[in-house]
Amino acid sequence: MGGCTFCDIYKKPGRTEIIVRKSDHYVIFDKYPASKGHLLIISNKHYENMLETPNKTIISMMITSKMFGKLFMDRLDADGVKITTNIGAAANQVIMHTHIHVIPRYLPHKHKDFRPHEEILHNERAELRVRILRALKK
Ligand SMILES: [Zn+2]
Repeated sequence: MGGCTFCDIYKKPGRTEIIVRKSDHYVIFDKYPASKGHLLIISNKHYENMLETPNKTIISMMITSKMFGKLFMDRLDADGVKITTNIGAAANQVIMHTHIHVIPRYLPHKHKDFRPHEEILHNERAELRVRILRALKK
């Protein structure tokens, strides 16, 4: 499978962008986040979308999505969380490899300077990564 962004990330274990690794999926920051902390839960193996993915993997990815949703709500100042997956280009799926979006949502007065869908900066990613890993340990 050549040229799949998510397979490439998985195959390079040294890559620092991976926040959490599980037996059948991993977690990274969305490169063009819709909100501060926007995460992607990605299957380790290449499946085109959720419909092609074994139930066992979906369940385990959803458990991780829920865990991060709770983390955003309880420890990282989110006021809501959107958990979603896109299936097919018509539904705005961009990378054709199964992934679930976990998007924290904040009340309008928070993160006013945040620019949605602009590429996340290296230092922003590093700072968020530290906050999330710290919250995970609590
Ligand atoms: Zn892939």
